[in-house]
Amino acid sequence: MAFCIFCKIAAKEIPADIVYEDDEIIAFNDLNPQAPTHILVIPKNHIESVDHAEGNDKLLLGKLLMSAATIAKSVGLSEKGYRVVTNVGDDGGQSVNHLHLHVLGGRHLTWPPG
Ligand code: AMP
Repeated sequence: MAFCIFCKIAAKEIPADIVYEDDEIIAFNDLNPQAPTHILVIPKNHIESVDHAEGNDKLLLGKLLMSAATIAKSVGLSEKGYRVVTNVGDDGGQSVNHLHLHVLGGRHLTWPPG
């Protein structure tokens, strides 16, 4: 596999501002936040995007989404709401090819996105 910055963060070879971690998932603050709270939730295993997930990733994907909600709750986003987004490929605006959920909150988010 080519160099993957999120694999390096998961392996603690590159520092990140980690807000949650378990055996399968790690979450950290986005380096270039687009909202007062902007957390990335990623599987430690390399999966390129949700489009590349396979049947045996089903449980992990469920856990990823549940973790995003738990983390959002733990940082106080539940009451006013927040957004969970995953970008896929060029048209989707994906710039890091390692599956990640963006958890965005702390301001009113407009729709549709650009
Ligand atoms: P996407 O464009 O959906 O692939 O999102 C990738 C996100 O990763 C962007 O919001 C970047 O700001 C963020 N990012 C890239 N490198 C790092 C890093 N080393 N630590 C934290 N966030 C990063």
